[in-house]
Amino acid sequence: MAMLWSAVPASGKLRLRDDPMRYSFLTLARQAMARHERWQRAWRDPTPKPSYDVVIVGGGGHGLATAYYLAKLHGVSNVAVFEKGWLGGGNTGRNTTIVRSNYLLEPNALFYEHSLKLWEGLSRELNYNVMFSQRGVLNLAHSDAQMDAYARRGNAMRLNGIDAELLSRDEVREMVPDLDFSARARYPIYGGLLQKRGGTARHDAVAWGYARAADRLGVDIIQNCEVTGFHRNGNRIEAVETTRGAFRAGKVGVAVAGNSSRVMALAGLKLPIESHVLQAAVSEPVKPCLDTVVTSGAAHVYVSQSDKGELVFGGDLDFYASYAQRGNLPAVKQFCDALLALFPRFSKLRLMRTWGGIMDMSIDGSPIISKTPIYNLYLNGGWCYGGFKATPGSGWVFAHTIAQDRPHALNEAFSLDRFELGRTIDEKGAGPVPNAH
Ligand SMILES: Cc1cc2nc3c(=O)[nH]c(=O)nc-3n(C[C@H](O)[C@H](O)[C@H](O)COP(=O)(O)OP(=O)(O)OC[C@H]3O[C@@H](n4cnc5c(N)ncnc54)[C@H](O)[C@@H]3O)c2cc1C
Repeated sequence: MAMLWSAVPASGKLRLRDDPMRYSFLTLARQAMARHERWQRAWRDPTPKPSYDVVIVGGGGHGLATAYYLAKLHGVSNVAVFEKGWLGGGNTGRNTTIVRSNYLLEPNALFYEHSLKLWEGLSRELNYNVMFSQRGVLNLAHSDAQMDAYARRGNAMRLNGIDAELLSRDEVREMVPDLDFSARARYPIYGGLLQKRGGTARHDAVAWGYARAADRLGVDIIQNCEVTGFHRNGNRIEAVETTRGAFRAGKVGVAVAGNSSRVMALAGLKLPIESHVLQAAVSEPVKPCLDTVVTSGAAHVYVSQSDKGELVFGGDLDFYASYAQRGNLPAVKQFCDALLALFPRFSKLRLMRTWGGIMDMSIDGSPIISKTPIYNLYLNGGWCYGGFKATPGSGWVFAHTIAQDRPHALNEAFSLDRFELGRTIDEKGAGPVPNAH
């Protein structure tokens, strides 16, 4: 019994399967008998060491997943994650949690499908319930041309081994009867493209699950520690300057989403990324009324219902570059108008909260997971609207890229130099131009 509450060993390393605080029904029962007074901290709060093999900048889902896979799959556990605020306080905790792999272009399709497969086993892998719910993602078509485009996309997905179903108007009506199917509908519904394996997850749990699992493998997670500069010796980073002092680093991986251009500028690099605000909102909670994710590219809105009952929805960017984590009323009005045009019935609901996050919009709408011109500096960014669903896959390939000093086949195309080499991956609907998609 004493073992049950023992601390993490002095080495800081613990194999996950030997974890004395493994979450299970038995642990829950034992803790209940102890009045829940003996739960361990989910992760340590260590004093940073002077030197690390790898420093990850950014304690969002991507940075934490990278640290986890470095330790788990590549045997690199002398790793620190430096987070300027609290874990998941950036876009990881601000997004609308849609997970899917319904991409047209092969590099994106294969990468996001790998990520989706990791999602399917993630709660078990991390021993943490990330509440991944495969309730399906339905893209509505509002014209013949859109039906053709979705047929093409669905066929491309299937050729890449990804599930896709083209639904008729009647099939959509059967699935989501609350949509406006009347003759005077603002957005007439012609059908839709469904990915049944898509869905949603609990965003905070993803950050916490990776943090806990990485910590158990010896990774130091240092919160309230902003990276403010890099000590360079020629083409190499020697140390990372932070608000808590300087720390030597063998390699540095940057995963700071909307702050990518700011942090990489500290190392003297200019990125093909613009930072824009994206807002979202939740309604008051109501009884279950929507059991899938519905998106409309034409109406510029998407919506799902959270497990608490709130409708979670959002739309377009605010369309001006900014590093502020807040937005403006016109964008909120736009996606509320669009939601009500699709679902007139929701007009009776009260709007409870809105918020914004800083989006790292790459110029071709596809991510950058890459080595950089600086020898031991690596970049993970350019996630545009869709980096939450990428979290497991992104950490998986970024860890590979850092550990092996070369990309995995799945992220080879997402190189930083593709923009100067003319090998952009122009994913329609994801944003070839940050303000025109
Ligand atoms: C409103 C909204 C809705 C979204 N909806 C979806 C969706 O439905 N599906 C989807 O797939 N994606 C969605 N996204 C996008 C998704 O949230 C992001 O792409 C993803 O979460 C990025 O994860 P990350 O770990 O890279 O970034 P973050 O979670 O932002 O983590 C980066 C971290 O870096 C830290 N940081 C920054 N600068 C420094 C520094 N100098 N030193 C130390 N730390 C630093 C930040 O504090 C932050 O915690 C949405 C985003 C928003 C804002």
